Amino acid sequence: MTQTFMEPGMSKTTDQKSNIARRSDRPVEPTIFEKDSPGLRAIDLPALDVPRSELPEDLLGKGPSWPAIGQLQVVRHYTHLSQRNFGLDGEFYPLGSCTMKYNPRINEWAASLPGFLHAHPLQNDRDIQGLLELVWNTQQFLAEIGGLPAVSCQPAAGAHGEYTALKVICAYFKDHGQSQRTVVLAPDTAHGTNPASCAMCGASVVAVKTTQGYTDIADLKRIIAEQGPDNIAAFMITNPNTAGLFDAEITKIAEVIHAIGALVYLDGANMNAVLGKTRPGDFGADAMHYNTHKTFSTPHGCGGPGWGPIAVADFLEPYLPTPRVIKNDDGSFSLSTDHPRSIGKVRSFIGQIGVAVRCYTYIRACGPDGLTNIAEQAVLNANYIAAKLCDVYEMPYFDAALGKFCAHEFVTVPRRLLDQGVSLLDIVKRLIDYGIHPPTMHWPVHDCLMAEPTETESLQVLDHFCDAMLAIAQEIESDPESIKNAPEDATICRADEVGAARKPVLVWPEG
Ligand SMILES: *Cc1c(COP(=O)(O)O)cnc(C)c1O
Repeated sequence: MTQTFMEPGMSKTTDQKSNIARRSDRPVEPTIFEKDSPGLRAIDLPALDVPRSELPEDLLGKGPSWPAIGQLQVVRHYTHLSQRNFGLDGEFYPLGSCTMKYNPRINEWAASLPGFLHAHPLQNDRDIQGLLELVWNTQQFLAEIGGLPAVSCQPAAGAHGEYTALKVICAYFKDHGQSQRTVVLAPDTAHGTNPASCAMCGASVVAVKTTQGYTDIADLKRIIAEQGPDNIAAFMITNPNTAGLFDAEITKIAEVIHAIGALVYLDGANMNAVLGKTRPGDFGADAMHYNTHKTFSTPHGCGGPGWGPIAVADFLEPYLPTPRVIKNDDGSFSLSTDHPRSIGKVRSFIGQIGVAVRCYTYIRACGPDGLTNIAEQAVLNANYIAAKLCDVYEMPYFDAALGKFCAHEFVTVPRRLLDQGVSLLDIVKRLIDYGIHPPTMHWPVHDCLMAEPTETESLQVLDHFCDAMLAIAQEIESDPESIKNAPEDATICRADEVGAARKPVLVWPEG
């Protein structure tokens, strides 16, 4: 992969800027293939104790040329690589909309209990009562937190939850003789997964204008009239939205949507900001998903083993995926597939149990007061930073003097700094030199940075972030060129991201 990356910046600065270990002094790690040490090997296979049989040569082929390498070398290789990764456990990671918060280690303890860790998906219900009870209890918690009574734990990520819930909504309309409802409305600040999930369900998406970050109700009504009220299936909204604002008109919007027989879908990615404060079911949502990795401190799915449970209103319950975890009259738990109107399976077995255990543990460890405290602290932290930076970094949706505060994240469009000839990329790359991960860029509006500190950071870290942002602004004022090679203190300074995506080098040796 080395060819797709530019060399680290040559200039070496002093340590004033950063209190983290200097990474640039270390050489680029050779690949494991370059560590070939003939004569060594990492494992000893047991002696052959079955009759030997020869496979045909053409079936075996030449085979890959694996490096000879010892076990300790393998461990060191991957340990070194992991130490060069930029992660939340090492540094501040204020990625807007993606809620990168600390995952307490008690979650790992619970998930590694043998009864959960070694459960087999084909085990008999009788033998996994504890596991089923945990999933059932988690469903109850999620129902209560969202104010929507029926929960499915099958979906594997937030985006997958959107898809599943939209399938449920489509099935509901089909069942009620309204399969013409295939138009979904979403604000123009919607996350990319919203239109993608609609497309996967065969629905078309129409963007509703936002004004000052909020859904423009007049535009919503105009689009409903234009598309035909009987063709609208749902309005999909993220609240608080991706501009970091809670749309207080949500109940009014829900009334407009319900009046035409359509449903309200709540993208729950930002639930961290409202836990214990308000519930989607109470402000008009008929269905929602949770991103447990954003709200309940579970590992991020990254397309892999994640979790995105959905919660829906009573009347949508019959359509939820199967198998469902149910509680029987005698107090036992079982997996039930006896739901004739269900949309069926959306993934294997009952979902990602390791993540479910972490989610359950976190909710139990926090308790109701702890969950409410999360929302309060997350919102306070974001407003604290916004208030300290807004004189230098313009914020279109934040004005403390006018009582315009943000929710859990804030957006800045630093026009004055960009006018000095630097790019957003230059600014965020310099943050890496201060041991801070770049915030989200160019979304939900062009030329913006969106930062979400979350509730888990200390005042010292928040202050360090503000100091770093202000120091970068000063650098730009005095010499914009000075940040063009940032970061100076990283193993890889500026990746050729387009090249890495378009021409990935996936084999060794190349070619
Ligand atoms: C993160 C996010 C999603 C997608 O969630 P995944 O769990 O990553 O699939 C959807 N909508 C919003 C607003 C998000 O921030």
